[in-house]
Amino acid sequence: MIFDIMTLFPDMIRLVTDESIIGRAKEKGIIEVNTFNIRDYTKDKHKRVDDYPYGGGHGMIMQCQPIYDCYKHITRDCSSKPHTVYMSPKGAVLTQKRVLELSKLQRIVILCGHYEGVDQRILDEIIDEEISIGDYVLTGGELPACVLIDCVSRMIDGVLSDSEGFQNESHFNGYLEYPQYTRPEVWKNRCVPQTLLSGHHANIEKWKEQQSLELTKQLRPDLIKKTES
Ligand code: SAM
Repeated sequence: MIFDIMTLFPDMIRLVTDESIIGRAKEKGIIEVNTFNIRDYTKDKHKRVDDYPYGGGHGMIMQCQPIYDCYKHITRDCSSKPHTVYMSPKGAVLTQKRVLELSKLQRIVILCGHYEGVDQRILDEIIDEEISIGDYVLTGGELPACVLIDCVSRMIDGVLSDSEGFQNESHFNGYLEYPQYTRPEVWKNRCVPQTLLSGHHANIEKWKEQQSLELTKQLRPDLIKKTES
């Protein structure tokens, strides 16, 4: 999978994606994360990439030209248009289902906005999908892009050491994961549930299922409704 990121702050993307599991997936060549600094593509002699909003209003808006030229550079050798995403608080909120679908693609181009956002015309011209990471506003699209790269990458074969592992995780089947424990058996007078120590495989599986259902009912009843509908 290739991720091409259009951003004004490429170091933010590199810093996050060079570490840990995603960093190792890059080293192994399972994923590729390319960053493109939008400022390198501006034709403005002062290297400006933003301007005041028409009609007045707060803050600065990123202009079309540098983003478009950056996009043209990224896609110059593509035989078909790669799926192009704008990280945006106005987009559909990301779900595990959408993450899994996106992980089947060969390539994703991601636009990170900054300041007050991006001129609508460049979005109309190149964007296929707007994705939000939650109903709140961040200062820029870089952290949301890292979130997208992370959760999509871990669905790709070879990125996690146990690729079956994520199928029991929260949200994969619409439920939250059961509580997890590790050694010691007793810590501050809190004991690991007896069933998990019993070695009885079938009972352990049943316990995990029950806990998962109970926890979801208690913490996220909205997920149960979605799964059953
Ligand atoms: N004025 C915009 C609005 O009210 O919708 C918010 C702009 S925000 C300060 C700057 C950039 O951060 C956006 O262009 C977007 O790329 C990114 N961003 C902020 N919140 C986000 C979220 N919840 N999900 C994804 N991207 C987000």
